[in-house]
Amino acid sequence: MNKRLVILGGGESGVGAAILAKQKGFEVFVSDRGEIKDKYKSVLKDIEVEWEEGSHAESKILNASEVVKSPGIPDTVPLILKIKENGIKVISEIEFAGRYTNAKIIGITGSNGKTTTAMLAFHMLNKVGLNVGLAGNIGDSLAKQVAENDKEFYVLELSSFQLDGMYDFKVDIAMILNITPDHLDRYDNKFENYAASKFRILQNQTKYNQIIYCEDDEVVRKELNNKKYKGQRHPFSIKNKTSNGGYIHKEDLIIHTNNKLFTMKITELALQGKHNLYNSMASGIAGRVLDLKKEVIRESLTDFQNVEHRLEEVGKVHGIVFVNDSKATNVNSTWYALESFQHPIVWIVGGVDKGNDYEMLAELVKDRVKAIVCLGKDNAKIHEAFKGLVEDIVDAETAQDAVNSAYSLSRKGDTVLLSPACASFDLFDNYEDRGHQFKKAVRAL
Ligand code: ADP
Repeated sequence: MNKRLVILGGGESGVGAAILAKQKGFEVFVSDRGEIKDKYKSVLKDIEVEWEEGSHAESKILNASEVVKSPGIPDTVPLILKIKENGIKVISEIEFAGRYTNAKIIGITGSNGKTTTAMLAFHMLNKVGLNVGLAGNIGDSLAKQVAENDKEFYVLELSSFQLDGMYDFKVDIAMILNITPDHLDRYDNKFENYAASKFRILQNQTKYNQIIYCEDDEVVRKELNNKKYKGQRHPFSIKNKTSNGGYIHKEDLIIHTNNKLFTMKITELALQGKHNLYNSMASGIAGRVLDLKKEVIRESLTDFQNVEHRLEEVGKVHGIVFVNDSKATNVNSTWYALESFQHPIVWIVGGVDKGNDYEMLAELVKDRVKAIVCLGKDNAKIHEAFKGLVEDIVDAETAQDAVNSAYSLSRKGDTVLLSPACASFDLFDNYEDRGHQFKKAVRAL
């Protein structure tokens, strides 16, 4: 009998899995409770894969030999529970694709900085001329690349949701950037569950594999004392000298791995800000572990183009700098954003709060923020958290309103920073939409 692969979610990863599964001779069915985009429908039609949208037909799903689930679908929805009760294994697209490639895998996880670091590492490997693909949450799915144009290396951005559906997949070079509270709604409100899901990136590693991790992050540091992780450790820190990893000494970024030294000036780095020191060190260590030429590592850390919506400088209007950090959807990433600016900040914040604790921002806000513009439907918590610290706190319900208010509250030399610390779904389609509307409003000033 043919193996039947049922794919839940007809987006990039689901359709990629369908392409690969079809190529490998599976009987394939794609089911999406929402709407499938036209471009994906036409792919499914071309490869002759049956699909449905708007609902899930259990009779066509519970006869699967295996299910590939989109990372967007929680493990707790009734359909997934039923599938598991029926003894059917539920995996992620990355797990499925990993069965069909022998490529070396560089996997990146963490609460913040995954996309930036993945793109940085990809940029580096590309520059050396390696045959490398970039996948995970970015660009074409891994499954599609494996099916159509398999590579020798992949840089993968791995979210906790993807890792939850991974069992046998092995990451040769794993990077763990940081673990701070996020998405707790999907983890029974338990931080330890969320953290455990991140450490799945290390499962299946052997002593020949590498672990690049942030030693300044207490959660990560403590967990890595555990001997069950077999990979070679490469810590990085901006506070202390590390051994066999990366650190900062005065004005230099230093990578000392396998008794070889790499140094470069912090001022040469393309990505500024403390958080980006971490991201640059992590990518640099990966480069050194792969024995890439020092010049190329230095060059790629210097000429990397920043990713949109991440501390992206939009422009200057009458001496006021506008910065789009719409991707900052949790408190920790916003902390780094506020920390990156020395000038007075007019801060645009708000949206859908995922259980935020604003306490950790209080000191920075007191020191650097001169006015707050709340951009969300319900801003009560932000008012409550900062009313004693900042004199002007105003509300806005559109990006344009927010930009206009921020502009009128600022003067030459100030920075207007959109770094919401919240998801965007109350007023926008997604964080990209929020960032684009912000930029449009700035350009209209
Ligand atoms: P992710 O893919 O993990 O969401 P991004 O690279 O898209 O990470 O960045 C998300 C947000 O976090 C941006 O606002 C960015 O400026 C900030 N950020 C980037 N790297 C880090 C880091 N190492 N620690 C904390 N915040 C970071």
